[in-house]
Amino acid sequence: MAGRHRLNIQARVIKEIESNSSVLKKILSASSDPVLITDKKVRIVYVNQAWKRLTRYTLKEVVGKNPNILKTDKTPKRVYKEMWQALRSGKSYTTEELINRRKDNLEYQIYSTIFPIMQDHTPLFYVQVEHDITERKKHEETQYRYELLFNSSNDAVIVLSPDEIIQEWNPAAVRLYGYQANEAAGSPLSILIPPERRNEDKKFKEQALKAGTSHFETEHLTKSSRTVKVSLTISPIWGHQKRLLGYSVFARDITKQKELEELKKEFLSMAAHELRTPVTTLKLLSQMHLLKYQRFGAEKIELHELKLIDKELDRLNRLISDILDDRRIESGKLNLRLEIFDINSLAADAVEETKPALNGHTLKFIPTDKIEVMGDSQRTKQVLVNLLTNAAKYSKPNTTITVAIKRRSSAALVSVKDQGRGIPKSKLKLIFDRFYQVKEHSSSGFGLGLYISKQIVEAQRGKIWLKSKVNEGSIFYFTIPTPLMT
Ligand code: ADP
Repeated sequence: MAGRHRLNIQARVIKEIESNSSVLKKILSASSDPVLITDKKVRIVYVNQAWKRLTRYTLKEVVGKNPNILKTDKTPKRVYKEMWQALRSGKSYTTEELINRRKDNLEYQIYSTIFPIMQDHTPLFYVQVEHDITERKKHEETQYRYELLFNSSNDAVIVLSPDEIIQEWNPAAVRLYGYQANEAAGSPLSILIPPERRNEDKKFKEQALKAGTSHFETEHLTKSSRTVKVSLTISPIWGHQKRLLGYSVFARDITKQKELEELKKEFLSMAAHELRTPVTTLKLLSQMHLLKYQRFGAEKIELHELKLIDKELDRLNRLISDILDDRRIESGKLNLRLEIFDINSLAADAVEETKPALNGHTLKFIPTDKIEVMGDSQRTKQVLVNLLTNAAKYSKPNTTITVAIKRRSSAALVSVKDQGRGIPKSKLKLIFDRFYQVKEHSSSGFGLGLYISKQIVEAQRGKIWLKSKVNEGSIFYFTIPTPLMT
């Protein structure tokens, strides 16, 4: 029944189209754009050749059916709403957002105009003229993805013409070189290349042309004439028939990485040097003792020499601990064991522990009433011992070192004051940096103590800072929070 009904409609419509105009039918059939016609009840009554090619359906398979057999959930619901609003009021509706499904389930996107053919103010047919834009949309999406990559890349991306004129310049290039995109576009790449490196640049370009890509590290100049170390990848862009369209250049800022590599090298030679000194002293002392023991027996071994061995071993231990703590910090494994403790008694312990390392300094300790704080007690003691040994290391023997504790609203404030050589104002900001040492001070350490202290204090949600005057002395402060009231 349903089949016959469908065929009846089809016959009627085709007759109608033909009777209205056989020319019209020919046009529809010959059109390269797909066309679909439904009756007023939205049942398909006609599709042309192009439509059948696009959807893989035959007329027989779709006639009498609602076009929603092609529907996918990719088309925004809003589109159907707007479409029916327009059609109901006798207007046409055009959209690029229709995504339909072919008979073989593949999806396609169309530019579609749909309009009603009215008779006596009511729709008689609905005609939909389509244009397949699947490829265009895919192309647009790819383009969009490339643009996103280009704009969000952390590396500078530059596109050059064959004669090395800058064509494209992404936001990372703006950040790295300081030129805005409109300043860079149209300029030669040579604005970035230090004059002494122009030949090198030529060589790399030739290499890229031969091998397809060339990768190297070099130096570039920024807009403010600052030198930045960059890792570059240059590749030629080929068009049809091997016509050179230009070059793509990816530049990564490796200034920091290079600095760190340099620091590492320096650190290794410094570490070897620093560790050798106490080891040599220890070796000498132990050989001396062996000789004495062999010649005179145990009673001739001297106490102050044994104390020296003990002191040197402590120093060695501290150096090794610093290296290990640094490794822990770098790998995010400086695990703190939080507990509640009295900062006054901890400071008293630290003062006692430091006394043997002092060199005739006077050590004053000004405690307060008991203040309970929240942190890792061993690590906090390590910070204090480090500040105290620094105070002793960088001040003359007959001077005073003062440790004071004060209560603040939600923390305890600990200070270590010395009357030593002080730190120049320009170096104050760098003093907590990893491996940093004031060049003028001949120190026996790795420049890690304050760096480690800062990491510990901050991991306990405290702060560390200092005031200092050259030749007058320094005061280091740090805070440690009191436990939250429950
Ligand atoms: P180091 O092992 O070299 O002592 P630190 O990280 O503890 O490493 O200190 C870094 C640098 O800060 C030291 O090399 C020294 O130049 C300077 N410094 C630290 N404490 C003091 C101080 N109390 N007075 C003067 N200079 C100091």
